[in-house]
Amino acid sequence: MKNVKIFQSMHSKTVLIFMLLVLLVMQIIGVYFVRQLETTLKDNFKTSIQDKVNLLSYYIEEQLTKERSEDSPSLEAELRSLLQGEYPTEDILEVKVIDGQGQSLKILGISDTNNQHLVGQKYTDTRIRRVIATGQPDNQEFIDNDNGNRIWVLSTPITKDGQVIAAIDFVTNIESVYKQMRDINQIFVTGTIIALFVTIMVGILLANAITKPIKDMRKQALALSRGNYSRKVKIYGNDEIGQLAYTFNNLTKKLQEAQSTTESERRKLSSVLSYMTDGVIATDRRGRVILINDIAAKMLDVSRETILATPIVELLDLENDYTFEELISETNHILLDYSTQSTPYILRANFSVIQRETGFVNGLIAVLHDVTEQEKIDMERREFVANVSHELRTPLTTMRSYLEALSDGAWKDEEIAPNFLEVTQTETERMIRLVNDLLKLSKLDSKDYKLSKEWVDLTVFYNKIIDRFEMTKEQNVIFERKLPDKAILLEIDPDKITQVLDNIISNALKYSPKGGKVTFRIKEQEDEVILSVTDQGMGIPKGNVEKIFGRFYRVDKARTRKLGGTGLGLAIAKEMVEAHNGRIWARSIEGKGTTIFFSLPYERYEGDEWN
Ligand code: ATP
Ligand code: MG
Repeated sequence: MKNVKIFQSMHSKTVLIFMLLVLLVMQIIGVYFVRQLETTLKDNFKTSIQDKVNLLSYYIEEQLTKERSEDSPSLEAELRSLLQGEYPTEDILEVKVIDGQGQSLKILGISDTNNQHLVGQKYTDTRIRRVIATGQPDNQEFIDNDNGNRIWVLSTPITKDGQVIAAIDFVTNIESVYKQMRDINQIFVTGTIIALFVTIMVGILLANAITKPIKDMRKQALALSRGNYSRKVKIYGNDEIGQLAYTFNNLTKKLQEAQSTTESERRKLSSVLSYMTDGVIATDRRGRVILINDIAAKMLDVSRETILATPIVELLDLENDYTFEELISETNHILLDYSTQSTPYILRANFSVIQRETGFVNGLIAVLHDVTEQEKIDMERREFVANVSHELRTPLTTMRSYLEALSDGAWKDEEIAPNFLEVTQTETERMIRLVNDLLKLSKLDSKDYKLSKEWVDLTVFYNKIIDRFEMTKEQNVIFERKLPDKAILLEIDPDKITQVLDNIISNALKYSPKGGKVTFRIKEQEDEVILSVTDQGMGIPKGNVEKIFGRFYRVDKARTRKLGGTGLGLAIAKEMVEAHNGRIWARSIEGKGTTIFFSLPYERYEGDEWN
C-alpha cells in the first residue's frame, strides 16, 4: 500500500483546518473591530474639533457684535490675538474667520502668522459661500497633494439673531486618526501571524497525537493481512482512540484464535480426507471439482493437480447419462462401471448436496466406494443360484417324464419299466450327489469349518487311493505310478485329501480314451509336496484351464452331464486344498491330455539328525 499523499494526510489536513479557522476568526474580529475602532476614533476626533469650533465661534461672535470705542483695539487685532493665541495645534492646521455680511466674502482673521497679509482680502471659496448662504455647517475630507496627509475641513456659520454674520473654516489634520488605525492594523496582523504560528505548532502536536495511533493501527492491519498476529498497537490513553486501539488489539486476538481454529479444522478435515478409505470429491455450485482426495484420484486414475476445475460429470464419465443438476437431485447411489474385458472395476458413488439454509446449492460432494468385490460376489451368488436351480431342474424334469410314462401304463411293460425305473434311480442319485456336494461346499464356505488333521505317510496314502481305483476301474486304462519309495510325512485331513484325489482321478478316468495312460506323481519341493495326475484325454481348450476350478463349470455341459458330472468336484477340491494352505492348478493341451497339480505345505524331515 502506498503512503498517503502529503495534502491528503490527516496530519496536514488537521493543521490546515486549524490555520483556516484561526484566519477566519481573526478576519471576522479584524473586520468588525477595525471598522468599529475607525468610526469611534474618527467620531472622537470630530467631536473634539466641534467642541473647539463651538467655543471659538462663541468668542468670535462676541467680538463681531461688540460695540467698539476709538481706543479699543480693532476687530482684526482682536481676532488675530484670539486665533494666534490658540492655533495652530497638532491637529488644527489653520483657522480662518470669514466675514459674511458684505456683498463679497472677506477674510477677517487667519491663524497662520505667515498668511496675515491675506486678512481683509476677498475670499472666493464656494463651500464657505454655501455655508454662509444656507446657514448650515459643512465638512469635507480630502488628501493634501503636497504630503499625502488626510485633511478634514469643517466650516461653521456664526449667527446672530438668525442672521449669518460670519463663518469659521477649520482645517484639521485627521491623518493622526488614520495613523493610529494603521498602527492598530499592524498590531493585528502581527498578532494574527503569531496566532497562526502557534496554531500550526499546536495543530502539528494535536495531529500527531491523533494520527500516530491511527498510523500504528494501519501498520497493524497491514501486518494482519500478511498473517502476522504477533504485533500489538500501543495504547496512548483512555480516550476514544485509545479505546479503538484496545478494541483493535482484541480484534487481532480474536482473529488469531479464529484463524488457528480454521487452520486446525482444515488440517483435521484434510487428514480425515486423506486417511479415508473412500474417495471424496467436492465441487463448487457449477459442478467443477474443487477438492479431491488421494484415494479418489487413485480410484479414477487421475492426477489431483490437473483435475481441479474439471466438471464432475466429465470426471466420472457420466456426461452421456447425467447433467450436474440431475446429480444434485440424485438420491440413490450410482454404480460406475469402469470394468474392462479382463478386469472388473465397479465404483459406487453417493452424492450429497452442500446447501445453505436458504436452499441455495453451494456444491456437491461425491463419495466413491470400490464395490468391485461386492459386485463380483453378488454376481457369483446369482450365477450360483441360477446354476443350482438349473442343475436340479434337469434331473427332475427327466424323472417327471419317465414317471409320467410309467403311470401312463409303461409300468405294465416288462421290457421298458425296469429301464425307466433305473433312469429315475440314476437321476435321484445324481441329485443326491449334487445336494451333497452343495452341502460340502457350503460347509467349506462357512467360517467355523475345521480340518481334523493327522500325520500320514503321503506315499502310502496315495498308493492306497490309486489301488482302490485300480481294483474298481471298468475302463481299459493303464495306471502308472511315479511315486518316491520313501516316506513323506505330512499333517493333513485324510478324508478331505481323499475326496480331492477321488475327484481328480475320477475326472482323469472319465475323460481318458480307451487304452489311455494315467500317471500319478509326487514331487518333493523345498517347502511343499506337489501331487499330480496326468491323463491322455481330450484336454481342455486353452483359456478355460483356470475356469475348471469354478463352481458348476464344465467345458462341454451336454457331454459332461452325460458322464454324470455336476461341475462342483474341482471347486470342492480347490476349497479343500486351500483349507490346507495349498494350491491347485492344471496344465492341459487340447487333444493331448491334462495334468492336475496340487500342493501341500511340507516341512522336510531331516532323518539324518536322528541317526
Ligand atoms: P463332478 O466332479 O462334480 O462329478 P465334473 O467332473 O464335471 O463333475 P469337475 O470335476 O469340477 O466337474 O470338472 C469340471 C470340468 O473340467 C469338467 O466338466 C470337465 O469339462 C473339465 N475337466 C476336469 N478334469 C478334466 C480332465 N482330466 N480332462 C478334461 N477335462 C477335464
Ligand atoms: Mg469331477
